[in-house]
Amino acid sequence: MGTYYRVTVADTVSNRESLTSGVEATLDNVDRLMSTYRDDSGLSQLNRHENADWFAVSMETARVISTSIEVSKMSDGALDITVGPLVNLWHFGPDRTKEDDVPTEEQIATAKVRVGIDNIEVRIDPPTVRKKRPDIYIDLSSIAKGYAVDRVCEYLRGKGYKNFLVDIGGELKGEGYKTAGKSWRVAIEAPLIDRREIERVVPLENLAMATSGDYRNYFEVDGVRYCHIIDPRTGRPVTHRLASVSVLDPNCVKADAWATALFVLGNEEGFDCAVDHDLTALFIIKEEKGFVERATPAFEKRFPSLKK
Ligand code: FAD
Repeated sequence: MGTYYRVTVADTVSNRESLTSGVEATLDNVDRLMSTYRDDSGLSQLNRHENADWFAVSMETARVISTSIEVSKMSDGALDITVGPLVNLWHFGPDRTKEDDVPTEEQIATAKVRVGIDNIEVRIDPPTVRKKRPDIYIDLSSIAKGYAVDRVCEYLRGKGYKNFLVDIGGELKGEGYKTAGKSWRVAIEAPLIDRREIERVVPLENLAMATSGDYRNYFEVDGVRYCHIIDPRTGRPVTHRLASVSVLDPNCVKADAWATALFVLGNEEGFDCAVDHDLTALFIIKEEKGFVERATPAFEKRFPSLKK
């Protein structure tokens, strides 16, 4: 998935190699189904299917698309998995070989015509997807890593493990305990470009955390930073003062989808949306000097004594 994974199991592991290959098979399965970075994935086949008929997909893909549509509707279209043509136009998709340049207004307008969550429909039984416009291109990069975290947790649970921490490229879930009575504790990073610093440490008690931000994946032209998260309303990378947002939820797929949605909406609209939907979220906002934090009431309630 273009990133790392780390699985820490606190229970006694009888066969480490077999566990590792089981985890990797779980990850490979998500990659095989939902990657836009490989031509043979189920998603790439759907993207190439330039037809408005119902197209058979895996149950896993149907569920992820269904969750994406749900969060898209709740976030007023901020999360939009049909944003792929714009992601690719801004060089953040699989085709990263081009020079970093800023697309023209005309190119943005042309790509935007192909974007809109109302252009797709999904059914779970049987698992099928219909693209109302045949040239719709779906990008699940905002959500499939979180889904993979949930699947790896399910695999570990199925093998009888109760105490583990799963981390795929910074999307995490902790179940059980690290040591007797001690929770898994993970860091929310300070959104710094040049170094890694801890902003907060959060206990993950049967809880997942996903973060979206503009400080790792971006390019610069003439001193302007263009990040990989696109506002589907403007067709451009977001440009507000929100540096990162971390969302906590029992399901990593939801945390991941919401982190991207809130990042698109920004520090004002995103915060209001998070409060309206009772999300446990921490916003880190750029100020002239440094950063300020803004926690939702649900975050404050869950972590009343959390100190920096
Ligand atoms: P998130 O905030 O979670 O997601 C941001 C990503 O979502 C953007 O990069 C863009 O693709 C998309 N996006 C942007 N705006 C929106 C929006 N408004 N609504 C919805 N989506 C939006 N990368 C590689 O370099 N090589 C690989 O082989 C590779 N394989 C992958 C396979 C899979 C199954 C997945 C899920 C991702 C893969 N990636 C790969 C992508 C890479 O891991 C991404 O950088 C990552 O998924 C983005 O995650 P994030 O946590 O940085 O940002």
